[in-house]
Amino acid sequence: YGEYVGLATLPNQVQRKSVKKGFEFTLMVVGESGLGKSTLINSLFLRDLYKDRTLYEVQEKVYQTVAITKKTVDIVEKDIKLKLNIVDTPGFGDAMDNTKSCKAVVDYIVCQFEQYRRGEVRLNRKNIQDNRVHCCLYFISPFGHGLRPIDVEFMKALHEKVNIVPVLAKADCFTHSELQYMKTRILNELNDYRIKIYQFPECDPDDDELFKKQHLEMKTRIPFAVIGSDTTVESNGKRLRARCYPWGAVEVENPAHCDFVHLRNMLVQTHMQDLKDMTEDSLYENYRIAGNHSPPK
Ligand code: GDP
Ligand code: MG
Repeated sequence: YGEYVGLATLPNQVQRKSVKKGFEFTLMVVGESGLGKSTLINSLFLRDLYKDRTLYEVQEKVYQTVAITKKTVDIVEKDIKLKLNIVDTPGFGDAMDNTKSCKAVVDYIVCQFEQYRRGEVRLNRKNIQDNRVHCCLYFISPFGHGLRPIDVEFMKALHEKVNIVPVLAKADCFTHSELQYMKTRILNELNDYRIKIYQFPECDPDDDELFKKQHLEMKTRIPFAVIGSDTTVESNGKRLRARCYPWGAVEVENPAHCDFVHLRNMLVQTHMQDLKDMTEDSLYENYRIAGNHSPPK
């Protein structure tokens, strides 16, 4: 459990020339209100351990009737810079009409495609604003029996426009066997409903063994069971992010307790560039060639 989110391996994912400019990545969170989206984002990238790491651009945009907010955080580790944009969507399930909330999220993603497309067709393409969403963490409730109709509706509306990475929220609610059951059930349902989630690319035969092992380990954990917390505990002189219960502490970054570390490694260390490539070469490209470009509202 280091002090870093793991930017050090980012340069291995791309050509050197982009290293100097720094990296930029846009992550969206979607799911029912109260499932721990904000807490997880905090746990992933804004650890209180870093006093200097703060958000800016808070509440950039109110989108139609629903508030979709975009926040940005600059993370610098060992001279490597990442500008991380976090798009938070209105949690559905409360007062909001679910269909409206679904449409707002889809519109937002399409709008960013359209803005980029317009940038591309202009003569001066030097300063294209690229706000396209590279990954969507979709939060599945631990309290249902697998996917609920709203999850199916949401993911179906999103899966051709964004890389969906499903996460099982508040995984501290499950026993070992319940968790295995729930994961299997969710995977089966995603398959039955033909929902396309983000697929890891196959490993190259000449990838190193450690990477192959990590890759397999990650793949088999999907949907990632996640736990978030805003509090830390001290253990053997180290501060750990954890949730404290009367019977003990659940450690967020302990791979025996949940898949938090696998998710963070995937997002930052190993698959950030692939998520961007998939967005550019497949999802955006499909939008671009489809041709029915409606003006952003
Ligand atoms: P959001 O509405 O999805 O952004 O949810 P929040 O992050 O605001 O969290 C809602 C509530 O759930 C808060 O009281 C959190 O402390 C709690 N919570 C967040 N993450 C977890 C978790 O992993 N496990 C449990 N049991 N509770 C959590
Ligand atoms: Mg929230």
